[in-house]
Amino acid sequence: MKVNHNALALEQNYLFSEVARRLREFQAANPDRRLLKLSIGDVTRPLPAVITDEMKAAAEDMSHAETFHGYGAEQGEAFLREAIAGYYAKRGTALDPDDIFISDGAKNDLGNLCDLFDADNTVLLPDPVYPVYYDTSIMSGRRVVFAAGSRENGFLPMPAPDVHADIIYLCSPNNPTGAVYSREQLAEWVAYAQKNGAVILFDAAYEAYIRDPALPHSIYEIPGAETCAIEINSLSKTAGFTGVRCGWTIVPKTLQFDGASLHQMWFRRTATKYNGCSYIIQRAAAAVFTEAGQQAVHADVDYYMENAQILKAALNRAGIFSTGGENAPYVWFAAPNGADSWDCFDRLLSRCAIAGTPGAGFGKAGQGWMRFSSFGTRETVLAAAALLEKISPAEF
Ligand code: PLP
Repeated sequence: MKVNHNALALEQNYLFSEVARRLREFQAANPDRRLLKLSIGDVTRPLPAVITDEMKAAAEDMSHAETFHGYGAEQGEAFLREAIAGYYAKRGTALDPDDIFISDGAKNDLGNLCDLFDADNTVLLPDPVYPVYYDTSIMSGRRVVFAAGSRENGFLPMPAPDVHADIIYLCSPNNPTGAVYSREQLAEWVAYAQKNGAVILFDAAYEAYIRDPALPHSIYEIPGAETCAIEINSLSKTAGFTGVRCGWTIVPKTLQFDGASLHQMWFRRTATKYNGCSYIIQRAAAAVFTEAGQQAVHADVDYYMENAQILKAALNRAGIFSTGGENAPYVWFAAPNGADSWDCFDRLLSRCAIAGTPGAGFGKAGQGWMRFSSFGTRETVLAAAALLEKISPAEF
C-alpha cells in the first residue's frame, strides 16, 4: 500500500493544535495564573431555548412509530432547504431550494468539494485566510497561488490579471482579518472567474456578523455568480452550532464546467459518501430561521460584536493598530514594534496571560499580525481589555 504523499506534504502542526500545545505548557508552568483565551474560534453562549426546544420535540418524535425518521432525503430535508431559501429571499437573493445541500458544517464541504475537480488545477487563495483551504488543496495535490492581503489593501486582495487560477476560495467576512469584500470587489472576482473559466468557492460562515447594510452577505448578490460560484455556509457561528453541526452548500444547476453539471456531480458525490445531517439537528436548524429563532441568534451575535468593540477600544487606547471587528467577530492587530507573530503571542501570554492567535499561522501575509476572537465570555473580554489598556506597546 502506498500512502497519499500529498497528505505528507502538509506541515505537521495545524495552527490551532500548536496554539493549544503552548497554552497547555503555559498553564502547567503557571497553575495559579488565569488564562484569558481570546484565541478560540469557538462560541461560548449556550444555545437559545427556541432551538433546544425544537431539538427536544424532534427527539420525542423519534420515539414514536408514527413520527419516527430513518434515513433522510439525500440533499437534506425540504423544510430546512426551504427555510434557508427564505432566509436569502429576505435579503432579495432568490435561490432554488433544490440547489441547497444540507451538511454537517462548512469545514467538511470546503474539503469535500475538491472531489469535483481534477488534481491538475491551480488554486488561488487570499492570504491570510482560514488554513483549511490551503491544507485541503495540498492534500489533494493541487498547485496553490496566493493573493496577498496587507494593511494597504485593507486585507482585501484582488485578483492579479496576469495570474491564472481554476479554483478560487474566498472568505468574506474573512477569518482571520475580519475584512469584508464590497459588492464592487466581489463583482471583480466574478468577472475574473468568468474570464479564467474558474470556480469560486465562497465561504460565508460569518455573514451574520455583517453590520454595514452596503456589504454583500452572499456571492449570489452579485450578477453572474450563479454561473461560477458555489457558496458554503454554516450555523456554527451564526447560531452557536459548533458542537451541534449543521451547515449548507449551494451548488446552482447553472454551474457548467468542462461539459459537466457541478450540481449533478455534487448530488452524486453526496449520495455516495454522505448519509446526511441528523433529522433532530435539521429540525433544530429550521428553528433558527423562525422569527423567534432569528431574534435569539441575533442577540448572541450582538453580544459577540460588543466583545469585539471592547477589544478594539482597548487596543486603540494601548496605541496598537487594529482592523476588523466591525463586520466580523475577529479583531486583527499589528504586533507592536514590528514583532514576529509568534513572539507577540508568547509575550502576550507570559506578560498578561492573554492568548491570541498568531497571524503567521494563517499565511505568510499574516506575519507580524495577531488575531483576537470575540467569542469569549464578556467577563474574559473585560479582564483582557483591562490588562491590554495597561500594557504599553514598548513592553511587547
Ligand atoms: N469557514 C471558516 C472561515 C471558519 O472560520 C470556520 C470555523 O472556524 C469554518 C468554515 C468551519 O465551520 P464549521 O463549524 O461549520 O465546520
